[in-house]
Amino acid sequence: MVRFDRVTKRYGALTVLDDLQLDIAAGEKVAIIGPSGSGKTTVLRMLMTLERIDGGVIWVDGEPMTHMPGPGAAGSGSLVPASQRHLRQVRGKVGMVFQHFNLFPHMSALKNCMEAPVTVLGLSRKEARERGAELLSMVGLGDKLDHFPGQLSGGQQQRVAIARALAMRPKVMLFDEVTSALDPELVGEVLTVIRKLGAEHDLTMIMVTHQMGFAKEFADRVCFFYQGRIAETGAPAELFGNPENERTRQFLSAVL
Ligand code: ATP
Repeated sequence: MVRFDRVTKRYGALTVLDDLQLDIAAGEKVAIIGPSGSGKTTVLRMLMTLERIDGGVIWVDGEPMTHMPGPGAAGSGSLVPASQRHLRQVRGKVGMVFQHFNLFPHMSALKNCMEAPVTVLGLSRKEARERGAELLSMVGLGDKLDHFPGQLSGGQQQRVAIARALAMRPKVMLFDEVTSALDPELVGEVLTVIRKLGAEHDLTMIMVTHQMGFAKEFADRVCFFYQGRIAETGAPAELFGNPENERTRQFLSAVL
């Protein structure tokens, strides 16, 4: 469903992703862990096409996201950098939830969930309202449709942000440290929603997290990032229980 094929990203002299190879199957739940600055968030930002890449190709759902077929003979396999239009089209398959919610403050919870389906997908307001209300109920906020973000707790705002991303019917959902800005007592309600999503939907989910306990329980696979590369990847039980790489061992002994 998602493939980073030898992807490189640089900021000036700093190489943030170094020839990254990462393949994620449809429906797979992947947790990305690693030290600060190792490139975890950059991976998600590239999938949201918030960043230009310097090398390699990113594929989503069988399509080159960052590139498109070149002018050569059909099936020749040549790829050229993607147009803005192509980027927007493939990007529609990816939804993201950020650390700091990023809700529209002047819109109710329901309006937050309706905005993009109406303006980007062209849904009628009625369809968008029904879809939004259904998703807000799914995240446990069926009684808060008309509340504005300022009237909601951090955990509730984050659940609105999850419903808003789902309203676009993405195939891949990205979660970037979605509980880091929350008071500890609000973390559980957000993780419960993510757990439920994972169990009930065939979504591909990629989560950057500092919550090792959750990564262990939720993910099918954990990727440990170090200096822009995957230093180790494996099932949670193996990676947490018996890490092979010295860097992984050091990191885990510092955070666990
Ligand atoms: P953290 O756990 O602290 O969020 P991370 O692993 O998610 O870290 P990234 O946010 O992906 O790390 O950043 C990787 C590196 O790229 C860092 O050294 C960061 O300072 C650098 N970086 C990120 N964005 C930019 C930018 N826009 N301009 C320059 N450098 C950047």
